[in-house]
Amino acid sequence: MPYKNKEDEKIYQKSYRQKNKEIIQKRMKEYYQKNKEKIIAKVKQWQKDNPEHNKNYYEKNKEKMLEKTKQWREKNPLYWKKYWEVDYHRKLGYQKRYEQSHKKERSQYAKKYREINYEKVTKRIKKWKKDNPEYDKNYYKKNKEKMLERNREYLKTENGKAYTQRKNFKRNTTIKGVINNLTSNEWLDILKKYNWKCVYCSKEFDLFDRPTRDHIIPLSKGGNNVKENIVPACRSCNSKKRDKIMIKEINYEVKMGK
Ligand SMILES: [Zn+2]
Repeated sequence: MPYKNKEDEKIYQKSYRQKNKEIIQKRMKEYYQKNKEKIIAKVKQWQKDNPEHNKNYYEKNKEKMLEKTKQWREKNPLYWKKYWEVDYHRKLGYQKRYEQSHKKERSQYAKKYREINYEKVTKRIKKWKKDNPEYDKNYYKKNKEKMLERNREYLKTENGKAYTQRKNFKRNTTIKGVINNLTSNEWLDILKKYNWKCVYCSKEFDLFDRPTRDHIIPLSKGGNNVKENIVPACRSCNSKKRDKIMIKEINYEVKMGK
């Protein structure tokens, strides 16, 4: 049937589409199923050629699209539940297996990331804690014993001990402006130099009587945590000494390694 003008044709087509909505939809679906791969490839190519359009379309229709998705989800709760469950558990299982087989790499990577992005990470944690005050509180309440126990266990390990030492030195440094640059190698050199013996009572250190770092001039009297100011002392001498300066009483025979 010929049309007088384009307007008439448009109107006719529109009414035809409305009348035959279901048939058209069915045909389109069939066509789509038959030519699925071809169509997807075409759409992908078009999206690649027109990146701006895609973005603009989303921006313009964001609200509408979200609303549509929401409505569809409400109409199809089972589909989503099923999808969610299957997908969630699949991902969870995969993730767990991955984590177990890459434990070391992951923890190393995380450590490195935290070191590099220390400020960023700290900020993020702070913000999250601020945004979720209840969660954090409840977590602590529920896991208090577990967390304390874990912390106690950690402090017993070599890493934990180093952490405590760092923290204590840091505290001293911030309070009194102490210079703090003793490395663990320097500490080992000092122990070797003094023959692994207490400078005050000459007792040899062992597993049960470990050496402590004694500051010749105590930190409280303006001494620094540097190799020149440190001698090895047994615990009992160190605690007897407290804040006294005992430089004259050092057993120099031990010091010379005789
Ligand atoms: Zn001693």
